[in-house]
Amino acid sequence: MQKKYHIIVYGCQMNISDSERVAAVLEGIRYKQTSNITEADLVVITMCSVRQSAVNRVYGILEKIEKFKKKPVTVLTGCILKKDKKKFSNLFNHVIDIKEISNLSKLLGKNIKSKKDYLDIAPRYSSKFSANIPIMTGCNNFCSYCVVPYARGREISRPAKNIISEIKNSVKRGCKEIWLLGQNVNSYKDKKTNFPKLLRQINKIQGSFWIRFTSSHPKDFSDEVISAMAECKKVTPYLNLPVQSGDDQILKLMNRHYTIKEYKNKIAKLRKKIPGVCLSTDIIVGFPGETKKQFENTAKLFRDVKYDMAYINKYSPRHGTAAAKLKDNVSIIEKKKREKILNEILKITALEKNKKYIGKEVEILNDRTKEYKNILVKNLKPGEFIKVKVTGAKPWRLTAN
Ligand code: SAH
Ligand code: SF4
Repeated sequence: MQKKYHIIVYGCQMNISDSERVAAVLEGIRYKQTSNITEADLVVITMCSVRQSAVNRVYGILEKIEKFKKKPVTVLTGCILKKDKKKFSNLFNHVIDIKEISNLSKLLGKNIKSKKDYLDIAPRYSSKFSANIPIMTGCNNFCSYCVVPYARGREISRPAKNIISEIKNSVKRGCKEIWLLGQNVNSYKDKKTNFPKLLRQINKIQGSFWIRFTSSHPKDFSDEVISAMAECKKVTPYLNLPVQSGDDQILKLMNRHYTIKEYKNKIAKLRKKIPGVCLSTDIIVGFPGETKKQFENTAKLFRDVKYDMAYINKYSPRHGTAAAKLKDNVSIIEKKKREKILNEILKITALEKNKKYIGKEVEILNDRTKEYKNILVKNLKPGEFIKVKVTGAKPWRLTAN
C-alpha cells in the first residue's frame, strides 16, 4: 500500500517553501500527502529556531505523536541549531539539514539519485495561484539577537537563470503571485545580476502576475532597488522593511548598520517615487538594556512613519548569539507592555491609512489588494485579478462588496 506523509511547518515563508521541496522528494518516492496526521506513516516537521517558543512547539507535537496508535517515522528539518540537533537526534528517527533534503529518499530506503542543490528540486507547490520562489538562502549579517546565520549558514544566491525558469513555469501553470524569498533579498548576487536587475528581468516575463518579495535589510535597500520597484509594473507597491528598533544605540547593539535618520531617508525616497506604497516592519521590544527612553524612540518612529502593518516580537535570548551574552533584563511584563503600546499606535495609523481607500477602486487577488492589504470581498473569484470598490475600513482589513 502507498505510504502517507504529513508535513508540519513552523516559521516563515522560507520554511513553507522548503516544505514544498520536502513534499516533492517524498512524492518522488511515491509517498502520498495526508492532512490527517494520525494516519501518516511519516511525519516531517520543518522547524523554526528564531524564538524559543517555536522550538518548544516541536516538543509539544512529539508528545502528541507518542500517543498515536499508529507510530509514524519522524523527520526533523528546517532551521535547526547545532545544540538542538543533538537533543533532537534522540527523539526523531531522522534529523536532516534542509540543504540535504534530497537524501531523505535514501534514508527512507529508496535508492534515487539526489539533486546536488536542494533548490534545484522542483517543488510540489501548496498553492495554485501563489508561488514561493527562494532566490537566496542563509545570511551573513549576524544581527546580535538572531540565530538565522547559525541555523542556515552563509548567504548563497541561486543562479538567476534557475529563478527565471521556475517563475516562467509557475506563470505557465496559472500562478498570479510570485513571492521572491531570502533572508536579505537586497544582497542577492549572481555574477552581474543584483537584486534590482533580477526584479527587472522577472518583470519582463510574459504573463499577468504580481511580484512580491521578503525580507529586505534596510542597510542594503538601495536607490537602485527603489527605482526598480517604481519602474517595474508587476512589482507590487508594498515593502516590508524591518527596522527592529527606533533607537540608534540599540540598533548599534543589534549590529544593524544603519541609523534611524538613514532609515527614514530611505522611506522618504520610496514614498516619493511610489506614492501610496504600503509599508510594514519588524520590531523587537525589550532587547537587553532597552530603557524606557530608548523604547519611546521606537514608539516615536511608529507615530512618525505611520506603518500599515508591523510584526512586533518580544526579545528572547538565543543560544550562541552575541546578544545572549547580555543580561535579558527587561521583564516579560514590561516587554508585553511595550508590545501593547506599539500595537495601539499601529492600530491608529493603520486605520487612518485604510480609511483613505474607502470609495476607491482597488485591484485584488484572493484576499489581498495589490498593496498587500487584507480585504474581505463577498463574491470572490479565487485566483483571478478583480477590481472592487472599497466600502469599509478597519485597522487590519478593508471590506468591499
Ligand atoms: N531577515 C530578516 C528577519 C528574519 S527573522 C531581517 O533582517 O529583518 C524574523 C524576525 O524575527 C526578525 O525580523 C525579528 O524581528 C524577529 N527575531 C529574530 N530574532 C529574535 C529574537 N532573538 N527575539 C525576538 N525576536 C526575534
Ligand atoms: Fe537574522 Fe539579521 Fe540575517 Fe535578518 S539580517 S536573518 S535578522 S541575522
